[in-house]
Amino acid sequence: MEILWAPWRMEYVAAGNEEGECIFCPGNDRSHDEERLILYVGGRSVILMNRFPYINGHLLVAPVRHVSSLDALTDGEKLDLITMVERAVRILTKAMNPGGFNVGLNLGRIAGAGVEDHIHFHVVPRWSGDTNYITVIGDVRVIPEHIRATYKKLLPLFHDV
Ligand SMILES: [Zn+2]
Repeated sequence: MEILWAPWRMEYVAAGNEEGECIFCPGNDRSHDEERLILYVGGRSVILMNRFPYINGHLLVAPVRHVSSLDALTDGEKLDLITMVERAVRILTKAMNPGGFNVGLNLGRIAGAGVEDHIHFHVVPRWSGDTNYITVIGDVRVIPEHIRATYKKLLPLFHDV
């Protein structure tokens, strides 16, 4: 049985579209949020879609600050991050009705972090039988339209966050 939760591969693809800029740093310019698949920017946390997800609905939750480790986070940031992970799960549940989730954190390159200098949680919805789907699809980079469609579906749900 193939194991879907292969975070090193996820991270490779997450980092694959970078052009030198940190994909997790939201910056002050909101005009490229759609292009960057950013769903939410709060005072402390940012939520975006993985541009090359292992499965549709794969979200990333990061602190707004560019920090690489858990101990660099303030207590307020830690609370906000977990709160946003919870909301991401709730919104995905409402929008996509998955049967479960994998929520994970890769610390350091050897643990699979593709962008190791800006800490981030993966929130990956799971459906019964999705490993078969992934096996069939093989290279999930073929579904960018699905990502855009999912982005448009999820974005309004994050307005109330
Ligand atoms: Zn950053």
